[in-house]
Amino acid sequence: MKYVLALDQGTTSSRAIVFDRAGSVVAAAQRELRQIFPQPGWVEHDPREIWATQHAVALEAMKNAGEGTSRPADFAAIAITNQRETTVLWDRESGQPVANAIVWQDRRTASRCDELRAQGHAARIQKKTGLVIDAYFSGTKLEWLLDNVPGARERAERGELAFGTVDSWLVWNLTGGRVHATDAGNASRTMLFNLRTMDWDDELLAVLRIPRGVLPRVVPSSGVVADSEASLLGGALPIAGITGDQQAATFGQACFAPGMAKNTYGTGCFMLMNTGAAPVASRNRLLTTVGWQGPPGAHRTAYCLEGSVFMAGATVQWLRDGLQIIQSAPEVESLAAQVDDTGDVYLVPAFAGLGTPDWDGYARGTLVGMTRGTSRSHIARAALEAIALQSADVFAAMSRDARIPLRELRVDGGASRNNLLMQMQADFLGVPVVRPQVTETTALGAAYLAGLATGFWRDADEIAAQWQVDRRFEPRLAQPQRESKLARWREAVERSRGWAQP
Ligand code: ADP
Repeated sequence: MKYVLALDQGTTSSRAIVFDRAGSVVAAAQRELRQIFPQPGWVEHDPREIWATQHAVALEAMKNAGEGTSRPADFAAIAITNQRETTVLWDRESGQPVANAIVWQDRRTASRCDELRAQGHAARIQKKTGLVIDAYFSGTKLEWLLDNVPGARERAERGELAFGTVDSWLVWNLTGGRVHATDAGNASRTMLFNLRTMDWDDELLAVLRIPRGVLPRVVPSSGVVADSEASLLGGALPIAGITGDQQAATFGQACFAPGMAKNTYGTGCFMLMNTGAAPVASRNRLLTTVGWQGPPGAHRTAYCLEGSVFMAGATVQWLRDGLQIIQSAPEVESLAAQVDDTGDVYLVPAFAGLGTPDWDGYARGTLVGMTRGTSRSHIARAALEAIALQSADVFAAMSRDARIPLRELRVDGGASRNNLLMQMQADFLGVPVVRPQVTETTALGAAYLAGLATGFWRDADEIAAQWQVDRRFEPRLAQPQRESKLARWREAVERSRGWAQP
């Protein structure tokens, strides 16, 4: 067998990528996913469209790999990686969703999260789940669906409904409704999963009034879960890896040793650092999360510390679709390069509230410091700086939590192709930023986990040897300038906070 098929269900698109044994991309296919904004602060996807686009690109990529003919026998395994936290609730009998998926960026449960904090649940939830109480995670989204979709709660109590994040939804569909499962990494993003027992937590289920019967079975991230339904892809293929996109990218970046960290520049920015075989509690409002479970060997279960930035590449999308000052995302680089600095203009992209380290569901997008001389180039540059500055805040928190200094940052994701942005990042961090040759690390990491489970790859050493540098960005900004830049940014952040009405 020659290939592993990775299904990468992202926030803005569904992708399928075929990898060979060298970890090289052999074929790929991609379709955009419709973003639904029913109200300010709400973000939804149609789960049927998630599955339809994912199924279509899987078929297309398999065909591309076979130069026009799909040859399922060439494939050792299917890997699944997904936008995390996005919440789907469906009918077990019909397999149909009972509502649109509530996307991770959706803020509709922010006031419910305030209530949970006011009731004094924060410390216990952090201790058990590693998470800060926030609308970002699936728990309050699921509770909202059970309370707001007519009849959902009663049907859930009767065992008629299934909840899942997007990985579960894909596994369900790929197996023709035979299997309802999720991996421990995805489970650890629900606010319902106990990091120490590695199981759903009954006390938290009671707090959020979630019947256990709606929840998926938790399986390792690397391991055969089931075979896919033969009719879907022209043959039954083992589904052998399930991981959330950020955990997958961490694995794809070969961050196998404690202290190694990566940052992914996609819709949001997610920085994860491997902390080894035990969960480490953050003192700086980072999240503690399961990295992956399996493959057998050195780090059977790896935990990570994570910082989450909600708007990164999506800020560039807003320049394109909202402001319409660029026509394509890559154009932001040349527009921003037309000016040497932002002229003290800051864009705080709190369009969906703020994640790490502020965790403010009521912060909103803010553009400060404009004068008569401010042009669209300054705004474009401020948008790129905002991506790098938010990540610099996360990096600072991570450096304080880590017991060892972080020496470099591995980067990937769509916006990491932007050289100006990567140079800004190195400047604001004060450590080198390293971009690998394969930036499809999310799909690659998932493929590795599935390939390890089926013997397609031997071990982590074989995988680590495949990781190759494309470009290294050295910091060029002197420390005093860096510090004053970061301080000025924090002033701008303060002005964005608490704007939306509860
Ligand atoms: P996701 O997996 O979250 O959908 P991707 O990794 O595909 O995201 O990255 C796409 C995001 O990156 C989009 O938000 C897009 O605006 C942004 N992006 C793509 N190319 C560039 C670029 N050259 N400069 C800045 N942002 C970019």
